[in-house]
Amino acid sequence: MTQALPPAPTSAIDWDSLGFKWIDTNGHVKYIFKDGKWDQGEFVRDSYIKMHVCAPCLNYGQECFEGIKAFRCKDGQIRIFRPDANAKRMIYSAELACMAPVPEALFIEACERAVANNLEFVPPYGSGGALYLRPLLLGTGPEIGLYPAPEFTFIVSVIPVGNFYKGGVSPVDCLVVDNFDRAAPLGTGAAKLGGNYAPVLRHSSDAKARGYPITLHLDSKTHTNVDEFSTSNFVALTYPSTSSETPTPTFCAPESPSILNSVTKQSLVQLAKSFGWNVENRVIPFTEILENRFEEIAACGTAAVITPVKSIERQGVKTLIGTSKTQAAIGPGFLRLFTAMRGIQNGDLEDPYGWMQPAQGIAPRHEA
Ligand code: PLP
Repeated sequence: MTQALPPAPTSAIDWDSLGFKWIDTNGHVKYIFKDGKWDQGEFVRDSYIKMHVCAPCLNYGQECFEGIKAFRCKDGQIRIFRPDANAKRMIYSAELACMAPVPEALFIEACERAVANNLEFVPPYGSGGALYLRPLLLGTGPEIGLYPAPEFTFIVSVIPVGNFYKGGVSPVDCLVVDNFDRAAPLGTGAAKLGGNYAPVLRHSSDAKARGYPITLHLDSKTHTNVDEFSTSNFVALTYPSTSSETPTPTFCAPESPSILNSVTKQSLVQLAKSFGWNVENRVIPFTEILENRFEEIAACGTAAVITPVKSIERQGVKTLIGTSKTQAAIGPGFLRLFTAMRGIQNGDLEDPYGWMQPAQGIAPRHEA
């Protein structure tokens, strides 16, 4: 039986000029955890939330969040990319910040419900845009002492976002942040807590003003090994010296207890393995960058999938990555990964891993 198609994208939005900025939609879904259990949740037609002034999320940063995308696929159906992986990561973050974890099934239901009530805000197939989902877990009950909140609120809001690469995928310059540590060695760097981000803003904003769109953090204890970028994971490719026209790359990612377990990176690793590439998850000394051991380096994350890096500057020393070709355009290895990943997300390619949350259950609801 063929499934009914969801409503078309609204004509109220100019899909070609969409960026990454808040746009009011129909609303968000909200669930409350109280007296040891989660409620049934509701759809809220508002962009504002009301909470107690003593909410620990406001006073002590007891909160965590996620970022997910939903796509209008080639067959017209709308699918969410790997919400189960984000659900698992939010459970990890919640435990670290002493919050009631959102069970995986409830997390996925909330994502579906948020999309189902905002179907007309999912950008058109082929536009390069997506519906960005922002799950948010907050300690909201009143508690002025340093104790966990007696009540938690779980929200999923949505924002239509545009094609990250309107002018094509172009490599960027990166700056190493040496005067600030993003994550302590036994700290919370592997969790998606809001508190990990605010202190980085000053440094990433300074870097942007100086012409570096992204910033790289090294391990806090020794400042010798690569950790991750401020909002994305570090990934790199090496190629064997061979006369073969199609050498098999090795996909390298840093092993560190202080970095976020990027869902994009997990997916790229699976794709790289499916191509027959080697995958190395290991400590990556910064000296390997200085010695230009990587033919291709990129940042990876939900927003852009892959952002190639053409140079990395540390304490006034700028290292060019790869060759003049990979400094001008995305290299062949990352291009192959990017194309495969975007192909699966758009429904242009088969999804052998079951990454795309199928449309079952995503029927327009428009709850009151
Ligand atoms: N690392 C950090 C610090 C991030 O904020 C993000 C973005 O969520 C990522 C990595 C990439 O993770 P994902 O691929 O799950 O979006």
